[in-house]
Amino acid sequence: MTTVPSVHIKLPNGVEYDQPTGLFIDNQFVASSSGKTFPVYSPSTEEKICDLQEADRDDVEIATQSAYKAFKKWSTVEPKVRATALLKLADLIEEEKETLKAIEALDNGKSLFCAGFDVGIVIDYIRSCAGYTNTIDGRTINTGDTHLSYTRREPLGVCGQIIPWNFPLLMWSWKIGPALATGNTVVLKPASATPLSALYAASLAVKAGIPPGVIQIVPGSGRKCGDAILRHPLIKKIAFTGSTAIGRDVMIAAAESNLKKVTLELGGKSPNIVFNDADLDTTVQHLIAGIFFNSGEVCCAGSRIYVQEGIYDKLLAKFKEEVEKLKVGNPFEEGVFQGAQTTPDQFESVLSYIEKGKAEGAKLLTGGNRIGNKGYFLEPTVFIDCDDDHTIVKEEIFGPVAAVCKFKYIDEVIERANNSEYGLASGIHTTDINKALDVSQRLEAGICWINTYNDLHHQVPFGGYKESGIGREMGSEALDNYTQIKAVRIKITRKNE
Ligand code: NAD
Ligand code: MN
Repeated sequence: MTTVPSVHIKLPNGVEYDQPTGLFIDNQFVASSSGKTFPVYSPSTEEKICDLQEADRDDVEIATQSAYKAFKKWSTVEPKVRATALLKLADLIEEEKETLKAIEALDNGKSLFCAGFDVGIVIDYIRSCAGYTNTIDGRTINTGDTHLSYTRREPLGVCGQIIPWNFPLLMWSWKIGPALATGNTVVLKPASATPLSALYAASLAVKAGIPPGVIQIVPGSGRKCGDAILRHPLIKKIAFTGSTAIGRDVMIAAAESNLKKVTLELGGKSPNIVFNDADLDTTVQHLIAGIFFNSGEVCCAGSRIYVQEGIYDKLLAKFKEEVEKLKVGNPFEEGVFQGAQTTPDQFESVLSYIEKGKAEGAKLLTGGNRIGNKGYFLEPTVFIDCDDDHTIVKEEIFGPVAAVCKFKYIDEVIERANNSEYGLASGIHTTDINKALDVSQRLEAGICWINTYNDLHHQVPFGGYKESGIGREMGSEALDNYTQIKAVRIKITRKNE
């Protein structure tokens, strides 16, 4: 394999760094077997950042063989070896925090402000995974004195991991952290729109002492490189984050190849419910964090806002006022909250949802337009007086567009909130603890935020009900997806010698 050089990048905030451009295989940045490259763009300027090597089916083969070879040793070392490397990796990410934030802002378009949250969770989560290495225990089971029965939690082998473009580095950590902690090795494909941080973080993994073959990063297209991962016979598990449509393809490919274990983190259309007795000012801030954080490109975004009729007018007046204060623009500029949408396709798609919202009769409270003519910037947009059958209430928009509906009764709003094929997240805003507990028990969602929103924590599991996914990430629950149980029974014979 031929290694390829990095390119030196000067980021708009003055940070300079060397961006690896090769496929990351066996701890080296190498050329693709086809010699093909692809361009990477910045969505805030629409300018090319650099070219990267493009992985194909042949490269997935090489990467998987490398991961397969590394598995033998990595899966059997003392847990402290894995813990030490993961702790070191977290330290290096922390040291390079400003660089990583800036790479995310450049490649994804998100504001430095938002990127700071991502990198913060990445550091906490990788450390947390280091700690989990000494919790991967089995149990001893009392089956009487004729046997010793116990279980071991063993890793699965090579894990294929496919991640999206909305949280490039965060998803890298949610995939790589638990896989490595439990002794697996990985072949990870970042999204073609945002591959830079995954490669740079891989260079930190080398410095952290993670052995060759444990991590492979193969930037490439979904249809070719992604599909090759989904169908490889040596890959025993797939962890996928992305659209529900591709999530279905993942299950089909796993079924048609070797029945890989599958975990999915897919789309959402999460209800964020405001009751009459909610604290107005803080609720408005949580609604904003719910739908406009990360330019609305959040699978758990609180995109369906239900407001009880007694507070409806007052809340919307304040919501409009606060949304219009949000600073949108250059992700590197001080005070900017919302940067650019990440891809031109996604940008067009959000604009077409806005048009649909207007055409179907929802009322525009604020926003609705593109900002400028260079870069994919959108006004934070709020539709009000929406009906449950409006497209913007039913479908995931994945952009800075909120759809607000009015409701009267608790039972009514629960039924409407649950009337979705999705079930990723939910939000409740009330000062009545009894109401909060009752409603949270009845919502069909993998997470329920009460008087807060998008409030992720590395120790708290995250994942979807219904068509929003299978399995959980973060928390100790994530480890279950990367281990399998072996039961051992030893016969004990009583002899009087
Ligand atoms: P996607 O599902 O197409 O892509 C996600 C990842 O899967 C990318 O790495 C992509 O290259 C890969 N992929 C695509 N087709 C594949 C295939 N056939 N086989 C294997 N891998 C494949 O999502 P997208 O195009 O990035 O975004 C489209 C929509 O997905 C968005 O509008 C949004 O609704 C949703 N989305 C959800 C999340 C999430 O966090 N749940 C993240 C990004 C996008
Ligand atoms: Mn990009």
